[in-house]
Amino acid sequence: MADTLVAKLGPEVDTSEFSVDYLQTQLTRRKKSPVKAVILDQTVLSGIGNIYADESLHLAKIHPERRAGTLLPVETKRLHAAVKTIMAAGITHGGTSFSRYVNALGGTGDYLDQARVFRRQGLTCGVCGSVIIKTRVSGRGTHLCPKSQLL
Ligand SMILES: [Zn+2]
Repeated sequence: MADTLVAKLGPEVDTSEFSVDYLQTQLTRRKKSPVKAVILDQTVLSGIGNIYADESLHLAKIHPERRAGTLLPVETKRLHAAVKTIMAAGITHGGTSFSRYVNALGGTGDYLDQARVFRRQGLTCGVCGSVIIKTRVSGRGTHLCPKSQLL
């Protein structure tokens, strides 16, 4: 486990290093892992927390448990764009709520008021009207729409 302590952190989402090709390479390298576990891996991407992962996967219409190696190129592209969009949305909501959002994993920051799926289990999906569920993926609480997000 000592290796994980010295493992190099992946690029930040808002850098040019985080390209569609880069994401594709990482997904291929971890093709048997659930896609959520890959984007949460800090050696793949720096700074993505549990909320961002759930929100990005919903925006990209990809089920968190999808094996990383099964994503079609168009889905990888969509996921790449979604991660960037969701991260930018968090940042534009201002330093205070953003910090609270990142650090407390779900305080009462502005962003959560307009979350797509995070902590919205039992409520309806804004895309299709189905009921959002909460499950666990790789040991993390995970929120998703079983209809909009393809497994
Ligand atoms: Zn839905």
